[in-house]
Amino acid sequence: MFDLERIARITDGDFSGRKVNCQLSGISTDSRNLIPGSLFVPLRGERFDGHDYLSQAVKNGVAACLTEEVVAGLSVPVVRVADTLRALGDIAAAYRLQLNGPLVAITGSVGKTTTKEMLATILLQVGPGLKTAGNFNNLIGLPLTLFRLEKEHQWAVLEMGTSAIGEIERLTEIARPTVGIITNIGPAHLATLQGLDGVSRAKGELFAGLQGGTAILNRDDYRVARLPVANGVKKLTYGLSIDAQVRAENIEEDRIGVRFELLIAGQKSAVQLALPGKHNVLNALAAAAAASELSVPMTEIVTGLAKFRAIPGRMNLSPLPCGGLLLDDSYNSNPLSAYAALDVLATLPGPGRRVAVLGDMLELGEKSAKMHIDLGAKAAEKTELLIAVGGFATQICQGAATAGMNPEQMVALADTAAAIEYLQKQQRSGDKVLVKGSRGVRLEQLAAALKATV
Ligand code: ATP
Ligand code: MG
Repeated sequence: MFDLERIARITDGDFSGRKVNCQLSGISTDSRNLIPGSLFVPLRGERFDGHDYLSQAVKNGVAACLTEEVVAGLSVPVVRVADTLRALGDIAAAYRLQLNGPLVAITGSVGKTTTKEMLATILLQVGPGLKTAGNFNNLIGLPLTLFRLEKEHQWAVLEMGTSAIGEIERLTEIARPTVGIITNIGPAHLATLQGLDGVSRAKGELFAGLQGGTAILNRDDYRVARLPVANGVKKLTYGLSIDAQVRAENIEEDRIGVRFELLIAGQKSAVQLALPGKHNVLNALAAAAAASELSVPMTEIVTGLAKFRAIPGRMNLSPLPCGGLLLDDSYNSNPLSAYAALDVLATLPGPGRRVAVLGDMLELGEKSAKMHIDLGAKAAEKTELLIAVGGFATQICQGAATAGMNPEQMVALADTAAAIEYLQKQQRSGDKVLVKGSRGVRLEQLAAALKATV
């Protein structure tokens, strides 16, 4: 990879003690999972400080260490830096330069992982590349992703997440994307970003930080559409709006997912997605727009999208043993994705009841109670049975009641265990059940229980 002298130059670090150069096989940040011969970069987290594990890392075979502190007695060379997290990013930024092909960065309040996986599925047909694994989208995960770059990689697709102003700016500086996508701007991480204007600013850092290249934006989201882009950056829009450059027409839901016609630059093709929801059509349009910008032919875009399969816990549609359908969206929740999920529930085929199991939407800050009341009102419109779960269950039911739902059509329960017990008794043949909540509510256990209940 790099040698230690180069690392010291890149990170503006100083050799602590004798200057001994060595070759490094990679970068390690977790002392439980070390690459032999690598550079150990200790990071400070909420609960752990990597500096406490320096000697263990050395014992387990790292070739050198970075530190923020003066340390004595280590048997490997040590480089001192002001901030190890910053250093990790600086090393990743230098490592990133080996990629000759395009690097696509994706941010937005929801749909990042789905869009990333869709785009990677399309691009993999054309050649090998690198994509973010799971949700490795922050100041630690993105650098670690870049260290997985290999010589044969022809492209990279990276997810960028944020919970603070300045984070996307830094991620953009590290990754130097040639294409940036912003999927949408909505109420997620409101507590730390201080309102929707804060979310706009935070996400907008991606477009502001592009150096040339293309900004791909959701035309249907007015907050995204009005974001400024840096000088010399091309704009490409997608959406259902008639004036979007990459668009969808004739959207139809079926039991497998959703079908639509994709329109790009005067070409039109039918697409079948194996997951439901208009919002996934938008994610597919974002992926298609990026792929077309990278000169991938329409036929490859269409086959790539058809190959894409739902990611666990996100819009997974499956038959239930009782003859109904399960829409498992238990991975996470916030107002934007919860409303989208209720819309999908409302359009699922079949005569059975529409049942929504809605858990808390966490990390929404001071307006949390109001947002749960509003969610309840939306649920009242779209469902015949509402099961609210968690600390905000009462507010969800309150909202549903205000919107006119009968008390016997709703129940507020404290936790997932209670919801499992309730639903096992109350479930009817043919029910279409949406399961959705923030990760903390652990509703995936309910989805698993439903699949197992005959
Ligand atoms: P995270 O911030 O947790 O990384 P993400 O942005 O990567 O989330 P996904 O994992 O793709 O988003 O999807 C998260 C949830 O949002 C899922 O429930 C999914 O169904 C829903 N969702 C995905 N795309 C959209 C969209 N464009 N509009 C509304 N909801 C969406
Ligand atoms: Mg994600």
